[in-house]
Parts: sequence; structure tokens; C-alpha cells
Amino acid sequence: MIRPVTYYEAICDKCGVSAHEGGDISAWGDAELALEDAEGCDWVTPGSAPPGPLTTAGRHYCPECAATEEEAGV
Ligand SMILES: [Zn+2]
Repeated sequence: MIRPVTYYEAICDKCGVSAHEGGDISAWGDAELALEDAEGCDWVTPGSAPPGPLTTAGRHYCPECAATEEEAGV
């Protein structure tokens, strides 16, 4: 039989890019793992100072968007 399963991946709240675009693994079986992976790729929660650990509840920005956000002083 076939059944659908749910996987998780971090998506940038600003540009919509996935934390693992082009990588071998694009999704995780657990939201925490997806966050850990994104964190390892320098993803951040915008507005947190100092940058704290990512949380499932927060927004997530890829390194590129995090950099432009800093420049904009938001
Ligand atoms: Zn982005």
C-alpha cells in the first residue's frame, strides 16, 4: 500500500527559499531536526538579539535575507 507521510523543512519567511535547496536532503521527519539543520546553515530568527536558537514558532530567515534585514536596520 501507499500512504503519504509528513516531512519538515525550513523555509525563509522572506524569500521562500528552502534551507536545503540543492542539497541531498531536502526534508526532515521532525521539525526540530529541520530547525537544527537551518541553524547549522546560519539561518536566524529575525529580530532576535543576540541571535538565539530557532524555534518552530518564530519566523526564519535565510542568511541572505538576514543580512539585508540588518542593513535595513529593522
Ligand atoms: Zn531568504
